[in-house]
Amino acid sequence: MNILVTGAAGFVGSNFCDRLIDEGHTVVGVDNFVTGRARNLDHLAGHARFTLRNADVSEPIGWPDGLPKPAAIVHMASPASPVDFGPLAIRIMRANAEGTYHMLELARAMGARFLLASTSEVYGDPEVHPQTEEYVGHVSTVGPRAVYDESKRYAEAMVCAYRRQYQADARIVRIFNTYGPRMRPDDGRVLPAFISAAFREEPLPVQGDGSQTRSFCYITDLVEGIYRLLMSDQLGPINIGNPDEVTIKQVAEEVIAATGSKSTIRYQPAPPDDPRRRCPDITKAARLLGWAPKVARKEGLARTIAYFRTLLGKTEAPAGKR
Ligand code: NAD
Repeated sequence: MNILVTGAAGFVGSNFCDRLIDEGHTVVGVDNFVTGRARNLDHLAGHARFTLRNADVSEPIGWPDGLPKPAAIVHMASPASPVDFGPLAIRIMRANAEGTYHMLELARAMGARFLLASTSEVYGDPEVHPQTEEYVGHVSTVGPRAVYDESKRYAEAMVCAYRRQYQADARIVRIFNTYGPRMRPDDGRVLPAFISAAFREEPLPVQGDGSQTRSFCYITDLVEGIYRLLMSDQLGPINIGNPDEVTIKQVAEEVIAATGSKSTIRYQPAPPDDPRRRCPDITKAARLLGWAPKVARKEGLARTIAYFRTLLGKTEAPAGKR
């Protein structure tokens, strides 16, 4: 298939492009590099089945004559890190609102299948545990996380409107916390923050008392789930995540042990609307896609730490502190 991937230079997008190329597809990646990095795609430069376009999906991007029409559009373009919710607030909302609209219109014009990368953040600070796809969420419209949570909810509603009004083949994956190589060390998400601090021998910043839980999915497992959804006849929404729930304090201790760091833990105030618990119910993904995560946290952490060691060792760790 010829597949358009927006957000191709990002953490998830670049790993997904690799998988598509490995499967023999032709890929057009689109990115405006607001949070993505060209180096995530360096290894695909010059590849016969890969093209990269620098474009902002908040505006119509059109389709150049000569490029084969996409058979599928996978819309992943959106900053996703809590540190971006302030400075990139409007851009996040536009990537998910106008960006989703423009990509759905493009899919309609091209007769292409569409897949939206949504998020577990649509569940907000959930009152139901674990979160099934039927749970409608507990989300503030006015808190600092609303720019992300509410624009993803809008994007999902837009996808469903295209299904109803145009019978669009438009799918939704709800992605839970994912980690792995190509995350940015400074992106504010918990594992990059912990690993970077551990390498600097600085205290790991735990927000709140550390008893809040998360469940972390390794990137190759996520990519497998999204790929299966794209190739299936399912529309979703379907949760993809790893239900192995763990407290943030325990993760901090695991990172300290796995890096061999002398770091301690520093407790900070919890940010507003920070979810207390987050754990996917993946019954649907198992039943409809035959999917289950395979990479245990110990293994995934080791691979992620190896990536950060190379990355930070080369460019970003302060001299004399490694
Ligand atoms: P990321 O920031 O690494 O990647 C996002 C990419 O989109 C970047 O390359 C960025 O430059 C690009 N982008 C943003 N706005 C754009 C625009 N207007 N036009 C073109 N490109 C634009 O983040 P990620 O973690 O890879 O997230 C990818 C997608 O997966 C997002 O939609 C995010 O909401 C979703 N998601 C990720 C996670 C996770 O744990 N990583 C969890 C839930 C959902």
